[in-house]
Amino acid sequence: MKQYDYLIVGAGLYGAVFAHEAKKVGKRCLVIDKRAHIAGNIYTEEVEGINVHRYGAHIFHTNNKAVWQYVNQFAEFNRYTNSPVANYHGEIYNLPFNMMWGVVTPAEAKAKIEQQRAEAGITEPKNLEEQAISLVGTDIYEKLIKGYTGKQWGRPCTELPAFIIKRLPVRFTYDNNYFNDAHQGIPAVGYNALIDALLEGTKVRLDTDFLLHREALTAEAAHIVYTGPIDAYFNYCYGALEYRSVRFEHETLQESNHQGCAVVNYTAHDVPFTRIIEHKHFETFGSAVNDNPFTVISREYSTEWKPGMEPYYPVNDERNSALLARYQQLAQQEKNVIFGGRLAEYRYYDMAPVIRRAMDLAARQA
Ligand code: UDP
Repeated sequence: MKQYDYLIVGAGLYGAVFAHEAKKVGKRCLVIDKRAHIAGNIYTEEVEGINVHRYGAHIFHTNNKAVWQYVNQFAEFNRYTNSPVANYHGEIYNLPFNMMWGVVTPAEAKAKIEQQRAEAGITEPKNLEEQAISLVGTDIYEKLIKGYTGKQWGRPCTELPAFIIKRLPVRFTYDNNYFNDAHQGIPAVGYNALIDALLEGTKVRLDTDFLLHREALTAEAAHIVYTGPIDAYFNYCYGALEYRSVRFEHETLQESNHQGCAVVNYTAHDVPFTRIIEHKHFETFGSAVNDNPFTVISREYSTEWKPGMEPYYPVNDERNSALLARYQQLAQQEKNVIFGGRLAEYRYYDMAPVIRRAMDLAARQA
Protein backbone atom coordinates (compact mmCIF):
# COMPACT_ATOMS: atom_id res chain seq x y z
CA MET A 1 0.00 0.00 0.00
CA LYS A 2 1.19 3.52 -0.76
CA GLN A 3 2.17 5.69 2.16
CA TYR A 4 -0.32 8.46 1.32
CA ASP A 5 -3.79 8.56 -0.19
CA TYR A 6 -3.13 12.01 -1.63
CA LEU A 7 -0.07 13.89 -2.70
CA ILE A 8 -1.16 17.53 -2.89
CA VAL A 9 1.10 19.58 -5.08
CA GLY A 10 0.94 23.19 -3.90
CA ALA A 11 0.37 24.54 -0.38
CA GLY A 12 -1.84 27.41 -1.54
CA LEU A 13 -5.50 27.92 -0.76
CA TYR A 14 -6.82 25.14 -3.00
CA GLY A 15 -4.32 22.57 -1.76
CA ALA A 16 -4.76 23.52 1.89
CA VAL A 17 -8.56 23.35 1.80
CA PHE A 18 -8.49 20.02 0.00
CA ALA A 19 -5.91 18.64 2.47
CA HIS A 20 -8.00 19.76 5.42
CA GLU A 21 -11.18 18.20 4.11
CA ALA A 22 -9.48 14.98 3.06
CA LYS A 23 -7.80 14.62 6.44
CA LYS A 24 -11.14 15.13 8.16
CA VAL A 25 -12.46 11.97 6.51
CA GLY A 26 -9.38 9.97 7.40
CA LYS A 27 -7.29 10.31 4.24
CA ARG A 28 -3.53 10.38 4.58
CA CYS A 29 -2.18 13.47 2.84
CA LEU A 30 1.21 14.86 1.98
CA VAL A 31 1.34 18.49 0.86
CA ILE A 32 4.39 19.68 -1.03
CA ASP A 33 5.40 23.08 -2.33
CA LYS A 34 8.38 24.21 -4.34
CA ARG A 35 8.57 27.43 -2.38
CA ALA A 36 10.16 27.70 1.06
CA HIS A 37 6.82 28.69 2.60
CA ILE A 38 3.17 27.68 2.68
CA ALA A 39 0.14 29.73 1.58
CA GLY A 40 0.95 30.09 -2.13
CA ASN A 41 0.16 33.54 -3.44
CA ILE A 42 -1.79 34.60 -0.36
CA TYR A 43 1.43 34.40 1.67
CA THR A 44 2.30 37.50 3.64
CA GLU A 45 5.63 38.56 5.07
CA GLU A 46 5.88 40.69 8.19
CA VAL A 47 7.84 43.92 7.71
CA GLU A 48 7.89 46.56 10.48
CA GLY A 49 4.87 44.86 12.06
CA ILE A 50 2.87 45.01 8.81
CA ASN A 51 1.67 41.95 6.88
CA VAL A 52 2.97 42.53 3.37
CA HIS A 53 1.10 40.67 0.61
CA ARG A 54 4.24 39.39 -1.11
CA TYR A 55 2.48 38.06 -4.21
CA GLY A 56 -0.12 40.76 -4.65
CA ALA A 57 -3.02 42.05 -2.61
CA HIS A 58 -5.66 39.53 -1.63
CA ILE A 59 -9.00 40.75 -0.39
CA PHE A 60 -11.45 38.08 0.59
CA HIS A 61 -15.01 38.62 -0.62
CA THR A 62 -17.91 36.28 -1.21
CA ASN A 63 -21.66 36.00 -1.46
CA ASN A 64 -21.47 32.39 -0.49
CA LYS A 65 -22.44 32.11 3.16
CA ALA A 66 -21.12 28.56 3.49
CA VAL A 67 -17.68 29.61 2.27
CA TRP A 68 -17.68 32.64 4.56
CA GLN A 69 -18.59 30.49 7.57
CA TYR A 70 -16.00 27.95 6.50
CA VAL A 71 -13.07 30.38 6.50
CA ASN A 72 -14.23 32.03 9.70
CA GLN A 73 -13.76 28.74 11.54
CA PHE A 74 -10.04 29.03 10.95
CA ALA A 75 -9.44 32.75 11.25
CA GLU A 76 -11.37 35.77 12.41
CA PHE A 77 -11.82 38.27 9.58
CA ASN A 78 -11.54 42.02 10.03
CA ARG A 79 -13.89 44.64 8.63
CA TYR A 80 -11.72 45.73 5.69
CA THR A 81 -13.84 46.94 2.78
CA ASN A 82 -12.05 47.56 -0.48
CA SER A 83 -12.63 51.11 -1.65
CA PRO A 84 -9.74 51.91 -3.96
CA VAL A 85 -9.33 55.18 -5.77
CA ALA A 86 -8.09 55.83 -9.28
CA ASN A 87 -5.43 58.38 -10.10
CA TYR A 88 -5.63 59.54 -13.71
CA HIS A 89 -2.98 62.17 -14.41
CA GLY A 90 -3.39 63.52 -10.89
CA GLU A 91 -7.21 63.57 -11.04
CA ILE A 92 -8.65 61.36 -8.32
CA TYR A 93 -11.77 59.25 -8.98
CA ASN A 94 -13.71 56.90 -6.80
CA LEU A 95 -13.99 53.26 -7.74
CA PRO A 96 -15.80 51.11 -8.67
CA PHE A 97 -17.02 52.92 -11.72
CA ASN A 98 -19.67 55.25 -10.40
CA MET A 99 -20.44 58.92 -10.81
CA MET A 100 -18.41 61.13 -13.17
CA TRP A 101 -19.09 64.30 -15.19
CA GLY A 102 -20.36 66.20 -12.15
CA VAL A 103 -23.81 64.66 -12.51
CA VAL A 104 -25.85 64.56 -9.34
CA THR A 105 -28.56 61.95 -9.78
CA PRO A 106 -28.53 58.32 -10.92
CA ALA A 107 -30.96 59.23 -13.71
CA GLU A 108 -28.54 61.84 -15.10
CA ALA A 109 -25.66 59.37 -15.00
CA LYS A 110 -27.73 56.69 -16.74
CA ALA A 111 -28.79 59.13 -19.44
CA LYS A 112 -25.17 60.13 -20.04
CA ILE A 113 -24.03 56.51 -20.38
CA GLU A 114 -26.96 55.66 -22.65
CA GLN A 115 -26.09 58.59 -24.89
CA GLN A 116 -22.40 57.58 -25.10
CA ARG A 117 -23.27 53.99 -25.72
CA ALA A 118 -25.63 54.96 -28.54
CA GLU A 119 -22.97 57.24 -30.06
CA ALA A 120 -20.52 54.31 -30.03
CA GLY A 121 -23.17 52.21 -31.83
CA ILE A 122 -22.70 49.06 -29.73
CA THR A 123 -25.48 46.50 -29.63
CA GLU A 124 -23.82 43.16 -28.75
CA PRO A 125 -20.45 43.73 -26.96
CA LYS A 126 -17.85 41.52 -28.63
CA ASN A 127 -14.78 42.42 -26.61
CA LEU A 128 -13.69 44.19 -23.43
CA GLU A 129 -13.76 47.66 -25.01
CA GLU A 130 -17.32 47.30 -26.27
CA GLN A 131 -18.41 45.71 -23.02
CA ALA A 132 -16.86 48.55 -20.99
CA ILE A 133 -18.42 51.29 -23.13
CA SER A 134 -21.79 49.55 -22.89
CA LEU A 135 -21.51 49.48 -19.12
CA VAL A 136 -20.03 52.89 -18.34
CA GLY A 137 -19.80 55.00 -21.49
CA THR A 138 -16.77 56.37 -23.30
CA ASP A 139 -15.56 58.94 -20.72
CA ILE A 140 -15.11 56.46 -17.89
CA TYR A 141 -13.74 53.94 -20.35
CA GLU A 142 -11.09 56.38 -21.60
CA LYS A 143 -9.97 57.58 -18.16
CA LEU A 144 -10.34 54.59 -15.89
CA ILE A 145 -10.34 51.45 -18.01
CA LYS A 146 -8.51 51.75 -21.32
CA GLY A 147 -5.02 52.58 -20.02
CA TYR A 148 -5.20 50.39 -16.91
CA THR A 149 -6.44 47.35 -18.80
CA GLY A 150 -3.92 47.84 -21.60
CA LYS A 151 -1.10 47.91 -19.05
CA GLN A 152 -2.38 44.99 -17.03
CA TRP A 153 -2.93 42.67 -19.97
CA GLY A 154 -0.29 43.98 -22.38
CA ARG A 155 -2.76 44.23 -25.25
CA PRO A 156 -5.58 46.54 -26.31
CA CYS A 157 -9.06 46.14 -24.84
CA THR A 158 -10.38 45.17 -28.26
CA GLU A 159 -8.36 41.95 -28.03
CA LEU A 160 -9.56 40.92 -24.59
CA PRO A 161 -12.63 38.92 -23.56
CA ALA A 162 -15.56 40.93 -22.22
CA PHE A 163 -15.89 38.85 -19.03
CA ILE A 164 -12.82 40.42 -17.39
CA ILE A 165 -14.54 43.75 -16.93
CA LYS A 166 -17.75 42.15 -15.71
CA ARG A 167 -15.86 41.25 -12.52
CA LEU A 168 -16.35 44.81 -11.40
CA PRO A 169 -19.64 46.36 -10.38
CA VAL A 170 -21.06 49.48 -12.00
CA ARG A 171 -23.23 51.43 -9.62
CA PHE A 172 -25.53 54.37 -9.67
CA THR A 173 -25.06 54.99 -5.98
CA TYR A 174 -22.35 56.70 -3.95
CA ASP A 175 -21.24 53.34 -2.53
CA ASN A 176 -17.47 52.95 -3.01
CA ASN A 177 -17.29 49.32 -1.93
CA TYR A 178 -15.40 47.71 -4.82
CA PHE A 179 -17.31 44.44 -4.42
CA ASN A 180 -21.01 43.61 -4.41
CA ASP A 181 -20.59 40.62 -2.13
CA ALA A 182 -22.28 40.33 1.24
CA HIS A 183 -19.11 39.24 3.04
CA GLN A 184 -15.66 40.80 2.88
CA GLY A 185 -12.53 41.13 4.99
CA ILE A 186 -8.95 40.11 5.65
CA PRO A 187 -7.98 37.52 8.28
CA ALA A 188 -7.15 39.54 11.39
CA VAL A 189 -4.43 37.03 12.19
CA GLY A 190 -3.09 37.15 8.61
CA TYR A 191 -3.46 34.76 5.69
CA ASN A 192 -0.53 32.58 6.77
CA ALA A 193 -2.34 31.71 9.98
CA LEU A 194 -5.43 30.74 7.97
CA ILE A 195 -3.38 28.28 5.92
CA ASP A 196 -1.51 27.07 9.03
CA ALA A 197 -4.86 26.27 10.61
CA LEU A 198 -6.07 24.42 7.51
CA LEU A 199 -2.87 22.39 7.36
CA GLU A 200 -2.67 21.61 11.06
CA GLY A 201 -1.82 17.95 11.50
CA THR A 202 -0.98 17.45 7.79
CA LYS A 203 2.54 16.65 6.68
CA VAL A 204 4.04 19.47 4.59
CA ARG A 205 7.30 19.29 2.65
CA LEU A 206 8.61 22.64 1.42
CA ASP A 207 11.34 23.36 -1.15
CA THR A 208 10.08 20.33 -3.06
CA ASP A 209 9.48 20.72 -6.77
CA PHE A 210 7.07 18.08 -8.01
CA LEU A 211 8.10 18.46 -11.63
CA LEU A 212 11.73 17.79 -10.76
CA HIS A 213 10.99 14.71 -8.61
CA ARG A 214 7.87 13.46 -10.31
CA GLU A 215 8.59 9.76 -10.24
CA ALA A 216 9.71 9.42 -6.65
CA LEU A 217 6.87 11.59 -5.36
CA THR A 218 4.22 9.85 -7.44
CA ALA A 219 5.34 6.54 -5.98
CA GLU A 220 4.43 7.76 -2.48
CA ALA A 221 0.71 8.37 -3.03
CA ALA A 222 -2.35 6.72 -4.57
CA HIS A 223 -3.70 10.02 -5.98
CA ILE A 224 -2.30 13.40 -6.87
CA VAL A 225 -4.01 16.74 -6.57
CA TYR A 226 -1.95 19.05 -8.77
CA THR A 227 -2.42 22.81 -8.40
CA GLY A 228 0.48 24.06 -10.55
CA PRO A 229 0.24 25.30 -14.15
CA ILE A 230 -1.37 22.66 -16.36
CA ASP A 231 1.00 23.30 -19.28
CA ALA A 232 4.07 22.85 -17.03
CA TYR A 233 2.72 19.45 -15.89
CA PHE A 234 2.80 18.30 -19.52
CA ASN A 235 6.24 19.82 -20.16
CA TYR A 236 4.68 22.49 -22.41
CA CYS A 237 4.30 19.80 -25.09
CA TYR A 238 1.79 21.88 -27.08
CA GLY A 239 3.54 25.16 -26.28
CA ALA A 240 3.16 27.50 -23.31
CA LEU A 241 -0.14 29.00 -22.23
CA GLU A 242 0.13 32.75 -21.77
CA TYR A 243 0.07 34.25 -18.30
CA ARG A 244 0.51 37.75 -17.05
CA SER A 245 3.13 38.12 -14.40
CA VAL A 246 3.66 40.99 -11.97
CA ARG A 247 6.88 42.53 -10.76
CA PHE A 248 6.49 44.02 -7.31
CA GLU A 249 8.61 46.90 -6.15
CA HIS A 250 8.25 46.75 -2.36
CA GLU A 251 9.42 49.76 -0.38
CA THR A 252 9.46 50.49 3.35
CA LEU A 253 8.93 54.17 4.10
CA GLN A 254 9.46 56.11 7.28
CA GLU A 255 6.05 57.65 7.07
CA SER A 256 2.89 56.60 8.88
CA ASN A 257 0.42 57.09 6.04
CA HIS A 258 1.56 57.33 2.44
CA GLN A 259 -1.54 57.33 0.27
CA GLY A 260 -4.50 57.22 2.64
CA CYS A 261 -5.91 53.89 1.47
CA ALA A 262 -4.80 50.36 0.61
CA VAL A 263 -5.17 50.54 -3.16
CA VAL A 264 -4.59 53.38 -5.63
CA ASN A 265 -4.94 52.44 -9.30
CA TYR A 266 -2.89 54.46 -11.78
CA THR A 267 -5.15 54.32 -14.78
CA ALA A 268 -3.14 56.39 -17.29
CA HIS A 269 -1.17 54.39 -19.81
CA ASP A 270 1.97 56.49 -19.44
CA VAL A 271 2.47 55.60 -15.74
CA PRO A 272 4.46 52.36 -15.88
CA PHE A 273 2.89 50.63 -12.86
CA THR A 274 -0.78 49.68 -12.56
CA ARG A 275 -1.31 50.32 -8.87
CA ILE A 276 0.28 51.05 -5.51
CA ILE A 277 -0.71 48.96 -2.52
CA GLU A 278 -0.16 50.34 1.00
CA HIS A 279 -0.41 47.21 3.07
CA LYS A 280 -1.08 48.60 6.56
CA HIS A 281 -4.51 49.83 5.45
CA PHE A 282 -5.64 46.24 5.04
CA GLU A 283 -5.36 45.69 8.76
CA THR A 284 -5.34 49.01 10.59
CA PHE A 285 -8.12 51.53 10.39
CA GLY A 286 -8.77 55.11 11.42
CA SER A 287 -6.23 56.83 13.63
CA ALA A 288 -4.57 53.47 14.48
CA VAL A 289 -2.77 53.87 11.14
CA ASN A 290 -0.58 56.51 12.81
CA ASP A 291 0.55 54.19 15.61
CA ASN A 292 3.20 52.68 13.35
CA PRO A 293 5.69 55.29 12.08
CA PHE A 294 6.53 52.99 9.14
CA THR A 295 4.58 51.90 6.13
CA VAL A 296 5.21 49.45 3.29
CA ILE A 297 4.09 50.12 -0.26
CA SER A 298 4.26 47.92 -3.36
CA ARG A 299 4.19 49.19 -6.92
CA GLU A 300 2.85 46.61 -9.37
CA TYR A 301 4.32 46.33 -12.84
CA SER A 302 2.43 43.99 -15.10
CA THR A 303 4.56 41.97 -17.49
CA GLU A 304 4.34 39.14 -19.96
CA TRP A 305 5.17 35.84 -18.27
CA LYS A 306 8.44 34.19 -19.26
CA PRO A 307 9.88 30.91 -17.91
CA GLY A 308 11.25 31.44 -14.42
CA MET A 309 8.68 34.12 -13.53
CA GLU A 310 5.60 33.66 -11.36
CA PRO A 311 2.43 33.11 -13.40
CA TYR A 312 -0.43 35.18 -11.94
CA TYR A 313 -3.22 35.80 -14.39
CA PRO A 314 -4.36 33.38 -17.09
CA VAL A 315 -5.01 35.12 -20.41
CA ASN A 316 -8.33 33.56 -21.37
CA ASP A 317 -8.48 34.68 -24.99
CA GLU A 318 -9.35 32.46 -27.94
CA ARG A 319 -5.86 31.22 -28.70
CA ASN A 320 -5.17 30.23 -25.10
CA SER A 321 -8.61 28.70 -24.62
CA ALA A 322 -7.99 26.44 -27.60
CA LEU A 323 -4.60 25.45 -26.23
CA LEU A 324 -6.09 24.84 -22.81
CA ALA A 325 -8.67 22.48 -24.31
CA ARG A 326 -5.85 20.37 -25.73
CA TYR A 327 -4.09 20.20 -22.36
CA GLN A 328 -7.37 19.34 -20.68
CA GLN A 329 -7.72 16.37 -22.98
CA LEU A 330 -4.35 15.12 -21.82
CA ALA A 331 -5.35 15.78 -18.23
CA GLN A 332 -8.42 13.57 -18.61
CA GLN A 333 -6.26 10.69 -19.75
CA GLU A 334 -3.98 11.03 -16.74
CA LYS A 335 -4.71 8.33 -14.18
CA ASN A 336 -5.23 9.31 -10.54
CA VAL A 337 -4.35 12.96 -11.06
CA ILE A 338 -6.78 15.78 -10.35
CA PHE A 339 -6.05 19.28 -11.66
CA GLY A 340 -7.44 22.09 -9.49
CA GLY A 341 -7.03 25.78 -8.66
CA ARG A 342 -6.25 28.94 -10.62
CA LEU A 343 -3.16 27.60 -12.40
CA ALA A 344 -4.18 24.02 -13.05
CA GLU A 345 -7.61 25.07 -14.31
CA TYR A 346 -6.21 28.20 -16.00
CA ARG A 347 -9.08 30.29 -14.69
CA TYR A 348 -9.18 33.77 -13.23
CA TYR A 349 -10.55 32.59 -9.86
CA ASP A 350 -11.03 34.69 -6.77
CA MET A 351 -10.29 33.06 -3.42
CA ALA A 352 -13.86 32.13 -2.50
CA PRO A 353 -14.57 30.03 -5.61
CA VAL A 354 -11.21 28.33 -5.13
CA ILE A 355 -12.33 27.26 -1.65
CA ARG A 356 -15.73 26.16 -2.92
CA ARG A 357 -14.17 24.02 -5.63
CA ALA A 358 -11.66 22.41 -3.28
CA MET A 359 -14.45 21.62 -0.79
CA ASP A 360 -16.58 20.11 -3.57
CA LEU A 361 -13.70 18.02 -4.84
CA ALA A 362 -13.01 16.68 -1.36
CA ALA A 363 -16.70 15.84 -0.92
CA ARG A 364 -16.67 13.86 -4.19
CA GLN A 365 -13.57 11.95 -3.10
CA ALA A 366 -14.83 11.05 0.37
N1 UDP B 1 -9.96 47.61 -14.28
C1 UDP B 1 -9.84 48.82 -14.91
N2 UDP B 1 -9.54 49.93 -14.17
C2 UDP B 1 -9.36 49.89 -12.84
C3 UDP B 1 -9.49 48.64 -12.18
C4 UDP B 1 -9.79 47.52 -12.93
O1 UDP B 1 -9.99 48.92 -16.12
O2 UDP B 1 -9.08 50.94 -12.23
C5 UDP B 1 -10.28 46.42 -15.09
C6 UDP B 1 -9.06 45.81 -15.72
O3 UDP B 1 -9.44 45.33 -17.01
C7 UDP B 1 -8.74 44.66 -14.82
C8 UDP B 1 -10.13 44.20 -14.39
O4 UDP B 1 -10.87 45.41 -14.32
O5 UDP B 1 -8.06 43.64 -15.49
C9 UDP B 1 -10.16 43.45 -13.09
O6 UDP B 1 -9.58 44.23 -12.07
P1 UDP B 1 -9.40 43.69 -10.58
O7 UDP B 1 -9.05 44.84 -9.74
O8 UDP B 1 -10.60 42.88 -10.21
O9 UDP B 1 -8.17 42.72 -10.79
P2 UDP B 1 -7.23 41.96 -9.74
O10 UDP B 1 -7.43 42.61 -8.40
O11 UDP B 1 -7.61 40.53 -9.82
O12 UDP B 1 -5.87 42.23 -10.27
